[in-house]
Amino acid sequence: MGAPGSSAPQAPDRALPVGTPYLPSGKVSPGGVLVLFGLGGALAWLVGVVCGLFTDFIWDFWVFPLVCAFGTAFAAIVGIRAGKCRNQAVAAAAALWCVACTYGEIHRLKNDAYRSDLRATLIKDKQATPETAEAVSHAKILAEAGSDDFGSLVRLRARRGLQATSRRSKDGKWTVLSGWGAYLYWIVETGLGALLALFLAVNFAREPFCEACGRWYEKLEGWGIRPEKQDALGRALAGKDFAGIHKLVEDRPGAKDLKIEECPRCPEGPLAVSFELPRPSWKGLRATTAFQEFLQREDAQRLRTTLPGLRKQAKPPV
Ligand SMILES: [Zn+2]
Repeated sequence: MGAPGSSAPQAPDRALPVGTPYLPSGKVSPGGVLVLFGLGGALAWLVGVVCGLFTDFIWDFWVFPLVCAFGTAFAAIVGIRAGKCRNQAVAAAAALWCVACTYGEIHRLKNDAYRSDLRATLIKDKQATPETAEAVSHAKILAEAGSDDFGSLVRLRARRGLQATSRRSKDGKWTVLSGWGAYLYWIVETGLGALLALFLAVNFAREPFCEACGRWYEKLEGWGIRPEKQDALGRALAGKDFAGIHKLVEDRPGAKDLKIEECPRCPEGPLAVSFELPRPSWKGLRATTAFQEFLQREDAQRLRTTLPGLRKQAKPPV
């Protein structure tokens, strides 16, 4: 992508031809749902273990939610790919399930950490045996929280507050968020994870998939779009007129301007073709998918024979 104002095409609101994008079938097998929830949930739980045990010591308070969010979203994506889920509603449910696994485990571990902290202080203070310390700490938790269950301990930890900085301030105090501050922090933390996981899950369930042989499409690389030829290329693809297409694109190893995806096992199957345009936005130039076309059999074959370099990339059937 070019720097703003350099060689990037100046095309703020150009009306590109409307293509026919790939539409997901919405299918997912019962086994796929098991894999999606099982594998995704297990990975998300692992993310929760890692974040719950280590992040306080390694990462800053403000970095922690981001690491958790990306970890949770990653777990959901792995589940979607492995479970071959093309259903966006199921993918969204799985993303929320992953959020529950990650953040539930984090809070469970923090609850446990609070219990063992309490035992440790009691052992130090009273020269008690582990058994009496256990009994005393349990009684103390009951007195403080009313009950020893998950929710009561979360409420207790909220009352006691979260340490919001990794260093003491100049007067030697920690910044602590307590009560509503703690809940707000947890809501933002979990909300961030939920938004990222939902967004990525729904998008990954829309990725092109070969219904004929049950495989996700793979991206092929190597085409650049010639300067200012996006319009013409979009028209040619939408109109299935591939005769002059070699004048609009260049066969260039490593180029990703034109995204072509195909099933790794079906060299005669449909092709998903798309490209992005850098468009101006409040953050400067942002790439958005500008054109998508899902070419069915004969059209896909015609593009394969016309587009330089495409034919040799197709793998032989196994
Ligand atoms: Zn296939």
